[in-house]
Amino acid sequence: MVLIGGLTGQPVDIYFRLDYPNCKAKVPDFEPCLRRETHYHTVRNFSLHPRNWREFKWCYPVIARRSKGLSLGINLNPDRVCTFDCIYCEVERSDFRLGKGQVRLPPLGQVRPMINLEEARAEMDQLLPLIREGHIWQEAEFSTVPLELRRFNDIAFSGNGEPTTYPRFSEAVQLVVEARSKAGYTPEEVKIVLITNATQLHRPQVQAGLRLLDKAKGEIWAKLDAGTPEYYSQIDRTNVPYKRVLNNILETARQQPLNIQTCMMCIQGVAPSVAEIEAYCKRLTDFLDGGGQIKMVQLYTVARRPPHQWVTSLPDTTLNAIAEGIKVSTGLAVETYGGNIGVTSILT
Ligand code: SF4
Repeated sequence: MVLIGGLTGQPVDIYFRLDYPNCKAKVPDFEPCLRRETHYHTVRNFSLHPRNWREFKWCYPVIARRSKGLSLGINLNPDRVCTFDCIYCEVERSDFRLGKGQVRLPPLGQVRPMINLEEARAEMDQLLPLIREGHIWQEAEFSTVPLELRRFNDIAFSGNGEPTTYPRFSEAVQLVVEARSKAGYTPEEVKIVLITNATQLHRPQVQAGLRLLDKAKGEIWAKLDAGTPEYYSQIDRTNVPYKRVLNNILETARQQPLNIQTCMMCIQGVAPSVAEIEAYCKRLTDFLDGGGQIKMVQLYTVARRPPHQWVTSLPDTTLNAIAEGIKVSTGLAVETYGGNIGVTSILT
């Protein structure tokens, strides 16, 4: 794999082309990213991702790019607790303190807010019929959503932290399974999705929830942002060993197929190195060789403004070139989700 790179003018205005000697697939052209106006409106929809909607405290409908439509989020982390501190995370945690092993914890002396599952159930009982009857598309926030995105894709455990840190995670899964069924949706019509950083998947209480999810034909989207421990530390900023994340993904993928979700970005204008991408591909093939079932890779870049100015989106051409490399190297299906944060060449 050969990387040809160029830096033009602005620090983040970078275009790369990846050449794979044995690859017959067409490699994206070495050209600036241009978006059409209609696409820009779509991107704007994706860039708005509030985790509160109207009077609802725990459930929030959003247009999500990886869902390619409407996703009903369940925020299991009003406490904002996460085992990662990703450089691109937009959740505000500057008031957190450093706990044991440098894990960032909520401020001392403050009540740690917890989701109320009964209230969440009542909210789903209100929101799911609103979606089912199509009334959601008359609401101000959704009335301009393009027709192709007016589809209900999933109910997702996501929110302001790592959902599997919630102590009653398996109960929450059960509750969502029941609410979906009560609303008259089949598992084929509306998926239940767990978006996770995979650090807690070894815990028995979490595994109980994963089994329920599997039985309900749900999906796990497990984060893997790096191919080396060094890059993992740089991106995800955690004391959780990289090896544990790899083991958890492999062990879970041996039990049930999962999606890998990977965020790649420019740091100080620099895209991930070829060596890093090659190492990342090797981690994926390790999963496959170890008996793990990977349905697909969701490769995305930052689409909402991160707290650090030095974190910016990969240009689409770079993202697509990396995706081609992953496909060729691993044989896996790869979907890409572009962004436009700090990429100065788009919208021209
Ligand atoms: S894993 Fe998700 S919630 Fe946690 S810090 Fe990273 S982006 Fe934020």
